[in-house]
Parts: sequence; structure tokens; C-alpha cells
Amino acid sequence: MRKVIVVIVALVILVPIVLLSRSATPVLDVPSSLTTLGKATPITVHVHVAKGVSNVAAFVEQNGNRYNVWGVSQPTSVADGSWTFTAGTSTTPQLKDGKASLVIEATSNGMVKKTGRWQRDLTVITQPPMVSVDSDQHYLYLGMADLTTFNVSGSYTDAGVRVGNQTFRAWPMPNGKPGFFSLFAFAWNMPADTVPVVYASNGAGNDVTSPMVFEFPKKEQPKYTAHNLQLDDRFIQKVVNELDPNGSGDPLARFIKINNEMRKDNNKTLSDLRLKTANKFLWSQPFQRQPHSQSEASFADVRSYIYKGNKIDQQVHLGYDLAVTQHVGVQASNDGQVVYAAPLGIYGNCVVVDHGYGLQTIYGHMSQISVHEGDMVKRGQVMGTSGQTGMAGGDHIHFAMQLDGVQIDAKEWWDSHWIKDHIAKRVDFRLLRN
Ligand SMILES: [Zn+2]
Repeated sequence: MRKVIVVIVALVILVPIVLLSRSATPVLDVPSSLTTLGKATPITVHVHVAKGVSNVAAFVEQNGNRYNVWGVSQPTSVADGSWTFTAGTSTTPQLKDGKASLVIEATSNGMVKKTGRWQRDLTVITQPPMVSVDSDQHYLYLGMADLTTFNVSGSYTDAGVRVGNQTFRAWPMPNGKPGFFSLFAFAWNMPADTVPVVYASNGAGNDVTSPMVFEFPKKEQPKYTAHNLQLDDRFIQKVVNELDPNGSGDPLARFIKINNEMRKDNNKTLSDLRLKTANKFLWSQPFQRQPHSQSEASFADVRSYIYKGNKIDQQVHLGYDLAVTQHVGVQASNDGQVVYAAPLGIYGNCVVVDHGYGLQTIYGHMSQISVHEGDMVKRGQVMGTSGQTGMAGGDHIHFAMQLDGVQIDAKEWWDSHWIKDHIAKRVDFRLLRN
């Protein structure tokens, strides 16, 4: 019993002393995103110490040498201080590309000065990466996809194809072959004079691009159709009741809001699914179109919404409206993995299937869904039944495709010849006959 009391008394006296002396040592922190040093890389250090600091200094150590890269010796009295400085080869030209270590030391104010130390291994990178692109002729069509192969050498953190403001990831070639490839799209609304490039960046501010050989056949570009969609009060009420059940006010204004703002939100949700993709081809046959279906609207149809003779809205329809019979079984277009299976605003009950490498198929307006997120599905597998949930006036399947989050025309992917010539042969992928 006495022993226990002695231990408790000792703890009561000693613990505060230890904590006090510990709390006087500055604690330093640098964002974990800092992993490279370039010519002049910004670095932010945060220092916490109760009585403030008397000085802070930063050093880069490389090959047994220590270079002072920054310092401040103005005492502060605040417990939390942040400083931003730059370090790199422009101020320390002795640094060489390769491994180095960044050390930051902060010394506290007060009678007993204590020095806190922080250190991280970094890579000095001043040489940009190098990119070499295949010499294939790439034919670009609005709303369509293509594939390019390339090599990247040197240090890089990110690479792929950039088309205007859209980027498409680089993937290591399948089957362990050297090099990379990107599946990319030339979006339906991309300005015709946009030049696609292969890019690589190294995270230290170096970004290199290399053009690919391409042709944009002006005369053979798809011509998008335009249609008037007549709205009646019954349809407007159906959409508003379903998609804005707690709203109030003018039904037409609410319909227009759904058609614009909710459409935009829903498309963002679809686009963000790009990150839920497999790094391999999950399929081996051409994509299939819903059997026996009539296409009631095709890709990038420009729709004018007419109400009582007036045009009240316009949207572009980025998919196919495929009708069969009411409540027909909705079939997966190809093998893949379900990455979304839930209501999605204007798309109603919606399923998204990932086929790997950022390629995904979208099925909307279903009356019922019988698959779950994470399920693997086979080509032709029924995933639920068609319907008219969301912004649909009759029973049909809204079928769409997206590549790295950019919606594309599905028709090329229904065509085994196109897949062989533009995709399969460039990455030694064996397309099986259907
Ligand atoms: Zn549709």
C-alpha cells in the first residue's frame, strides 16, 4: 500500500515537470506535400512553442555538406508562428539533382532556450522530365475517343494527355510492357482548333508537353441534331414533384432550376466517379447496345424546351435514349464493376459500371436497380429494369459513356473494327469476338 502511495506522489510531482520542460521545446511542422526541391520551391513551416521563438533557420544537407538556405532571428512572443520561404538551386547553386535532406531548427524564447528540430528527405529536381510520343496519326472527332502511347523519362509525378482544360491519365502499358498509354477524348464542345498534347510534370514546377500527330477532319465531324421538346404541365409537375418535393413556388421556374443546377450537380457526381476505376481492361469484347432497342435521342442532341409556344430552356443531351418495352431488363454493356447504384437527380435511378482505365457506362431512369456498388457484372447481365424515374417522360434507358469523367459518344465502342484499330492494336489488347 505504502509503495503505491510513493509511486503516486512521485508521478504527481514528476509528470508536470516533464511536461513543462517538454512543452518548452518548439514543435515544427511542414505540409506533407513537400517532397521535392526545384529552382525556388516555396516552403511553409509552422512552429509551436508556448513562449515564442528567438530564431528559426533552415538548411539543406546533401553529400555531407550543409547549406544554410533561410533564417529569421527576430524573437516572437506568440505561441504559434508560420513562415514561408523559398529554397532551391537558384539560391543554393551547389545543390545537385538527387537526394537531399531539409532540416529546420527553431529555438525558444525565455530563460532556458530549447531547440526543436524537424527533418525530411527530399529529392532535388531541376531537370524537366522528357516525353516521347508515338508516331501514329490520331484522327480527332468531336465527342469521340482515341488512344496514344508514349514514354516518359526523368523525374515526374504526373503524366497523361491534355486536351484544352481536360486531362486524361497515363497508365503503364498492359502486360508489363515498357511505356505508357492514355485513353483520351476530344469533347463534343471542344473548340476545333484545340491541340492535344502529351504532358509530364515533376511536381517542382517543371511541366513538359509534346504534340502528337493528329488530323481533325473538318468535313467528317459529327453534325449534332437539334430537337424541340414540348413541355406540358403534367410533365413539369411530375418532374418537380419527384425531384424537388419540398420546394414551393412557380413549377416552371423550379423545373428550369432542376434542368440547369441539378443537371450540373449530377454531371459532376458522374465525372467524379473517374477516380473509381480499375487499372486494367475489365472487358474483352466490344460494348453492346441494349438489344432490340430503338434510339429516341442520340449523343449531343441540342434540345430546346418549349412551353406554351415559348423556348424556355436549352440543354445538350449527352447520351442515347434507348427504348424497348416497359420495364425491360437493363443489360450491362460490357464486363465491369458497379461503381454507382442509386438515385441521381435528373438521371433517376442510375447505375454506373466501370470498365477500367477511366472508361465507364451510365444507365439512367431505371424503375428498379438489382445490383450494388462493388458488384462485378458480365456483359449482358441484367442490372434492373427500365423506367421513367428522374427527368424522363416515358419508359426508356438513358445510356451514356464517359472517359476520365468526360462524356463521350458510345457508338465507336459498339464497333469492334474501331476498337481493334484505335485501341486494341496499340496496346496489344486481344479483343474477343462477340
Ligand atoms: Zn436521355
